[in-house]
Amino acid sequence: MGIVVQKYGGSSVADATSIKRVAQRIVATKKAGHDVVVVVSAMGDTTDELIDLASQVAPLPPGRELDMLLTAGERISMAVLAMSIGTLGQEARSFTGSQAGVITDSEHGRAKIIDVTPGRIEAALAEGAIAIVAGFQGVSQTTKDITTLGRGGSDTTAVALAAALDADVCEIYTDVDGIFTADPRIVPNARQIPRISYEEMLEMAANGAKILHLRCVEYARRNDMPIHVRSSFSDKTGTWVVKTEDVIQEGHSMEQAIISGVAHDRSEAKITVVGVPDKVGEAATILQALADAQINIDMIVQNVSAATTSLTDISFTLPRADGQTAMTALARLKDQVGFEQLQYDDSVGKVSIVGAGMRSSPGITARFFRALADAGVNIEMISTSEIRISVVVTENQIDAAVNAAHAAFDLGTDEVEAVVYGGTGR
Ligand code: ASP
Ligand code: MG
Repeated sequence: MGIVVQKYGGSSVADATSIKRVAQRIVATKKAGHDVVVVVSAMGDTTDELIDLASQVAPLPPGRELDMLLTAGERISMAVLAMSIGTLGQEARSFTGSQAGVITDSEHGRAKIIDVTPGRIEAALAEGAIAIVAGFQGVSQTTKDITTLGRGGSDTTAVALAAALDADVCEIYTDVDGIFTADPRIVPNARQIPRISYEEMLEMAANGAKILHLRCVEYARRNDMPIHVRSSFSDKTGTWVVKTEDVIQEGHSMEQAIISGVAHDRSEAKITVVGVPDKVGEAATILQALADAQINIDMIVQNVSAATTSLTDISFTLPRADGQTAMTALARLKDQVGFEQLQYDDSVGKVSIVGAGMRSSPGITARFFRALADAGVNIEMISTSEIRISVVVTENQIDAAVNAAHAAFDLGTDEVEAVVYGGTGR
């Protein structure tokens, strides 16, 4: 039988008891005849604790040193897990990202994988061992320094290794039973989705669903690597993330669902540039300043300029973490562009409905907006893709908006299915 890559998140390896439980599952997979490669996250909230520690000694720790510190979290779990597996009579060898051949660029804190050369992993498998790999880290091709892939990056390590090893499947073990139609912490009757397409999962992940790292889904789609998301605390069947043809063929949904799920995001902020002269090139200048500051903006709204003043407002959303940098970059443009003022609002959130079926169903936007209106939710901004509609709302209306959308598209189930087994939700 082929290679199985399993990734265990922080809450699945939070303490010695959890690690022993995970070790049992890994050994069972090995005994079933598979070659097993395991990717681990840091134990519990270790990564957050290490970040807190760094910030106590330095307000802005250098990226190189922060990466060196954070990668220690995954090294602890990999070694402890290998020891635990050893006591069950199987040989397990742990490897850092660098040893596992995860080669990245040199962007500390958000490195991209450029190659995976898993020679040592293949050798370990050939000798009958289980390979345990530290997630979320690699080594820069140019500087040879240790890098991290960004928060939640262990998912991406797992899919990248699965693709490089030509594994049969990449299993992502977490603390919920799979992917749900909405976050079960907000919508108690959210339903578990048996199968979802890469493209829908990409939209969900890009719009705040935290269950899978966005780049892991991109990687899986590019390499057509099936992802199986399941709980390490139960034996439930979980959710398969696969190509569109496989979602439909398996007969789980003869007709594709119009809306697959509702995602929400509390990590954005909104900036409004007030009183921009309505001249050719002003928006380009503003956006260039943000691009130069390496800021990814999301939604953009430009109003028609008021006839009397010929001034317009431009609003956009961006990651809250980049808010300060963006405001500083824009303030420098004030005289050049001649706008009146900048407004910063970080009490906003984004709620999105995602579904491949909306391509061929009219009236989806109307139904979504009606539901929001009935729930008393005010829409501040709107953006759409072919298979997604997103709105920006005030932060304290996110939960109401998610519940309203979920009910409007009949996504719920009568039985409460979702169990959140672990994690502090940090
Ligand atoms: N430990 C890292 C984090 O907390 C990476 C991961 O869990 O995927 O972000
Ligand atoms: Mg994660």
